[in-house]
Amino acid sequence: MACKAKTPRSLKVEVIMATTLNVNGTNAASGTSPRSTWSEEVRVLARERNAVILAHNYQLPEIQDIADHVGDSLGLSRIAAETDADEVIFCGVHFMAETAKILSPEKRVFIPDANAGCSLADTINADQLREWKAQHPGAIVVSYVNTTAEVKALTDVCCTSSNAADVVRSIDPEQEILFLPDQFLGAHVRRVTGRNNIHVWAGECHVHADISPSDLVDTVRANTDAELYIHPECGCTTSALWMAESGEIPGNNTHILSTGGMLEEAKKSTSERVLVATEIGMLHQLRKANPTTEFLPVNPQAACPFMQMITPEKLLKCLREGTDEVFVDKRTADAARTAVERMIAIGNPGSGE
Ligand code: SF4
Repeated sequence: MACKAKTPRSLKVEVIMATTLNVNGTNAASGTSPRSTWSEEVRVLARERNAVILAHNYQLPEIQDIADHVGDSLGLSRIAAETDADEVIFCGVHFMAETAKILSPEKRVFIPDANAGCSLADTINADQLREWKAQHPGAIVVSYVNTTAEVKALTDVCCTSSNAADVVRSIDPEQEILFLPDQFLGAHVRRVTGRNNIHVWAGECHVHADISPSDLVDTVRANTDAELYIHPECGCTTSALWMAESGEIPGNNTHILSTGGMLEEAKKSTSERVLVATEIGMLHQLRKANPTTEFLPVNPQAACPFMQMITPEKLLKCLREGTDEVFVDKRTADAARTAVERMIAIGNPGSGE
């Protein structure tokens, strides 16, 4: 099933991006603080509210630098569940803040802009999943964590990009599986498990899908001695593996990694140069983790517009006014939590996006 229709949320993002996005400085029209006092006010307000600020690896550098914790979606949600803070300010996209709320229902969870959606999560909704399940009665549903709470609630077990293959291997080999929503991650899982009874939803993240095989070939040929980190959501993953197998790029220099996996690999890398195929916000953490290696994007245009909706001004407004709070109804949250906890019980949850 093709699933690329734009949702109202996606359309709204384009309008906002075209009119108001200000990622580098303060916005005089919004009445926000000069940059020199912005960070002080953010920290004071966070302390007064007893709030912890979490930032995803793809956030703007200013947001990453002010946060208490920076990481991947699942890792941050687990931090949210363990913290003593009363409030969680989740600087990421909406499904990530929902996951934090699902794992810590007693805390107040906020996102600086509730319109920060995700083109991958939006490729399947609860009605579409119900219909797909009805076409495959008895199939086990495995959902990547990049899904809404309602979709997780209809899921048997969640997975991350680190453990998707382990989750599938934990399921009876004779059992039919519905894997969603990312087709590139699904193809990767099919390849490494060798199973042919996995049906894969035809969803994709527009940012990662745009990191194309031709981007990869051009960048690799211009940097033949570089290591290569590729997120399995990328449109170039299959080509990279094919190039590695055919010897066009050195197989031992090519790593298919989640965002958390990239960070761990970067810390121990002794390479002069590493090419990175994922959203470009990730480069900020990689460069901080290893200042002696040069990290270059495979596609420098691969910026997520949804992640960039979380601006310094909106973070400050969130702390001042308590907007936007995230709610998940109890029945949905309980069912979704069961799917996430089953994944954690299988082990190696590693990281989400
Ligand atoms: S990079 Fe893609 S998967 Fe990640 S939040 Fe943005 S649209 Fe969603």
